[in-house]
Amino acid sequence: MSITVAIDGPAGAGKSTVAKAVAAALSYRLVDTGAIYRSVALLAQRQKMSLDDDKSLETIVRGLDIDFTMVDGVNRVFLRGEDVTDAIRTPEVSRDASLVSTRPSVRQGLLALQRRLAGHGGAVLEGRDIGTVVCPNAPVKIYLDADPGERARRRLEELRGKGKDVTHEAVLSDMVARDAQDMGREHAPLKAADDAIHLDSTALTPEEVLERIVAAVRQAGG
Ligand code: C5P
Repeated sequence: MSITVAIDGPAGAGKSTVAKAVAAALSYRLVDTGAIYRSVALLAQRQKMSLDDDKSLETIVRGLDIDFTMVDGVNRVFLRGEDVTDAIRTPEVSRDASLVSTRPSVRQGLLALQRRLAGHGGAVLEGRDIGTVVCPNAPVKIYLDADPGERARRRLEELRGKGKDVTHEAVLSDMVARDAQDMGREHAPLKAADDAIHLDSTALTPEEVLERIVAAVRQAGG
């Protein structure tokens, strides 16, 4: 049986790495919902629109033409055929994604798209509200967390690997601000579902996290 696996948690907890590995191990589809919010933010930036302009944001959401394709182990994101994988990972897009994701019209508008991508099982979805809002009936829900200092260190490594000139302090303060916004917003805030399995990746390798999630999926019959 193919089931739905929901992975939620704050920035830098290792969700993307682990979700990708879980999807590969189980031959499930991978749905990176953060990339969807990032894409909305990127289009809003390009159109120089105000991030509280609900009408214009709704137009972006309605017309969102997004596709994911795994290329050489990278989950590439295409908007109307344009590869935006790198463009949606800048600190500015991270910040604006968190801002547009506070708007109920954006969240509501993206719900159907995320559920369509989830299908009827056989998918791993990663995000902030998958276990609580998007797929509340997912048989396996994971809440993946890690110490803020460690999360910032990982994000720093990732950004520096891409040639970005950033400091640990800047990454940490951006991350803490984004977490506070994601946890404190009124609509679908980041929080663990009541029946989520809590995993702390601070002292676990990605392989250990993968093993635990796959074991939970097997136990749930997936
Ligand atoms: O996971 P990622 O860092 O790519 O997500 C970018 C932003 O999108 C998050 O900070 C959050 O504000 C928003 N998001 C969300 N709900 C999701 C996934 C992401 O609000 N399910």
